[in-house]
Amino acid sequence: MTTNRTEIYAGGSWLEAHASARVTMTNPATEEIIGTAPDADSTDVHAVVSAARTGFRESGWRDLTPLQRAEHLAPFADHLRSRAEEIGSFITTENGTPAALSTAVNVFGGTSMLDYYRQLAGSLEMEDDRTSTIVRKEARGVAAMIVPWNGPMILALQKLGPALVAGCSVVIKPSPETSLDASFLADAAEAAGLPDGVLNIVTGGRDTGAALVAHRDVDHVSFTGSTAGGKAVGAACGAALKSHTLELGGKSAAIVLPDADLDLFLGSFGQLCLANSGQGCFLSTRVLIHRSLYQDLSERIASAMESARVGDPLDVDTMYGPLINVDAYRRVLDHIESAQSEGAKLLTGGGRPSHLNRGYFVAPTVFGNVDPSMRIFREEIFGPVLSLTPFDDDDDAVRLANESDFGLGGMVFTRDLDRGNAMARRVETGSIGINGYTLDVTAPFGGYKDSGVGRELGPEGIEPFLQYKSIYQPGGAFF
Ligand code: NAD
Repeated sequence: MTTNRTEIYAGGSWLEAHASARVTMTNPATEEIIGTAPDADSTDVHAVVSAARTGFRESGWRDLTPLQRAEHLAPFADHLRSRAEEIGSFITTENGTPAALSTAVNVFGGTSMLDYYRQLAGSLEMEDDRTSTIVRKEARGVAAMIVPWNGPMILALQKLGPALVAGCSVVIKPSPETSLDASFLADAAEAAGLPDGVLNIVTGGRDTGAALVAHRDVDHVSFTGSTAGGKAVGAACGAALKSHTLELGGKSAAIVLPDADLDLFLGSFGQLCLANSGQGCFLSTRVLIHRSLYQDLSERIASAMESARVGDPLDVDTMYGPLINVDAYRRVLDHIESAQSEGAKLLTGGGRPSHLNRGYFVAPTVFGNVDPSMRIFREEIFGPVLSLTPFDDDDDAVRLANESDFGLGGMVFTRDLDRGNAMARRVETGSIGINGYTLDVTAPFGGYKDSGVGRELGPEGIEPFLQYKSIYQPGGAFF
């Protein structure tokens, strides 16, 4: 069954799009078309932004207290949770994420962010009465949210929770690969009684995103996507003097120290380094191993990946599904080829699994003897390709971890917590885990270097959606 949507969501209603062009969604596991959605043009973008502007100025939304706004987040989250399996599986047909992971991350992970910001709203003071000045926090206005396909719902909710508590209205632009699941958010907004125009959705590709960023009535841009996309968005925002945050690519390092609990590492690396077939921003796709463990551990890593189950992402036993599309499939194979020609040692994988004759599948692939000069060490592959590199001591490990244009995630495996934390402090990255990597909604998340600008999550995640106003009271003195 295919779903062909012809509308954009503006001002609380689905309205026929002006554009006749369409983006097409293809199930990456079967290569079958599952639906289409408007490839919105500048007229459509103007319609959603105008609806958001009206929602911001005239619906009364911005005049509510954070707590009053946050009251809408509970029914919003409840609605999504009540349809968890349906949403998770639907996203799986769009992007190939194994269904259990898709539901856990997009629905339960995403709604936990709404729960967190609902609770935080109680402590958000919008006015602070200083000696002779009232300092106000005000919502920035209309926030554009541009999201990628790899975690379409969680990445939208990560932005939506703080934006709504701050008092912004929003326009969400999903990725062209995952344009259909955003309708669940429109349903949730209606179930939650959000005023019309507070949440709007426009579908399309890069040009639609660029038109949204350029629209003069968009006050803030919250972008998650590739580093190349982020640079273009950052440049456009700079030219228009628009505030923005950029959550971008990564190439994180897992450091395995000589005293590491290897069973712990081996039990978790398949998810922490290659979940979603390596299509995750913070995954540690570079594994740095102390030389004393290198031979033994690299063999055990390769054999674990050899037996990992690859296939239909709707099957509960599947560990790894397909890549998002044919371009990604070709890009990953190109990286594999280049790694071999640069002298890396292929330990397992290296191409399409022999039992799968359709879909964009690449077997989990492990390369040993990877040198920092090689492309697979430096570039974000966004596929199931792990590179293993030996190191000699702690300084060497930190040097290798930092030899990257990115700085998003990372891990240190050690039985010595003090040593692990000392090393974590030296790695140039926005987040890093000891003996694992568990995202914490109460702590800021974001990138160093080419991995981004600004932070999401935690109390810090609200800041980008606010601006400050000082109202000087009569009789105040400068000196
Ligand atoms: P992408 O940059 O191609 O697209 C992301 C979104 O931006 C899409 O909606 C796309 O239509 C839009 N877009 C692209 N170029 C644009 C432009 N110039 N102006 C306006 N909009 C534009 O990225 P992708 O391939 O969809 O996603 C994968 C990338 O996202 C990876 O690099 C991954 O690491 C990154 N990512 C980062 C995080 C994070 O939190 N740091 C989370 C998930 C994914």
